[in-house]
Amino acid sequence: QTVTIFHICTYPEKVLSQPAEPITSIDEDVIKLADHMAETMYNAPGIGLAANQVGVAKRLLVADIAPRGPESELIVLVNPEIVAAEGEVIIEEGCLSVPEYQAEVKRYEKITVRGLDLNGEEVEIEAEGLLAVVLQHEIDHLNGILFIDRLSKLKRDLVKRRLRKKKTKE
Ligand code: ZN
Repeated sequence: QTVTIFHICTYPEKVLSQPAEPITSIDEDVIKLADHMAETMYNAPGIGLAANQVGVAKRLLVADIAPRGPESELIVLVNPEIVAAEGEVIIEEGCLSVPEYQAEVKRYEKITVRGLDLNGEEVEIEAEGLLAVVLQHEIDHLNGILFIDRLSKLKRDLVKRRLRKKKTKE
């Protein structure tokens, strides 16, 4: 079986700042996309990936907060939505689409996420800690929001300018 590694889009590529479209039918293409997104995430390595990060503006995410550990568990969610949230946590985040930059972001501590699995069954995940943060980060992606958009204006402008400059040089 061949492994497919997608190109990961980086800021300021447009697809990252546009809300992704809901998936209306879970066909073979969606299943293949999810497979290849997981392969791309594990290869990166990362702990979460949203479809628009690989240039596909569809509401699909993959996550695994213990990619190399015995507790490794791949989560695939179609059309994920946060239906409940509580508490507050601040964790340093990074992003495959924002290379070489980390910053502390304020998130909900616990969330309930609802979506569909690849069989089209409704799933509900109660997440806290790192998983809650990863799911919020990825759902943000699907809404066209990067973690740097959640920083203070000063920090955000600074890092965006730096990233644009870097991109022009490439
Ligand atoms: Zn990200």
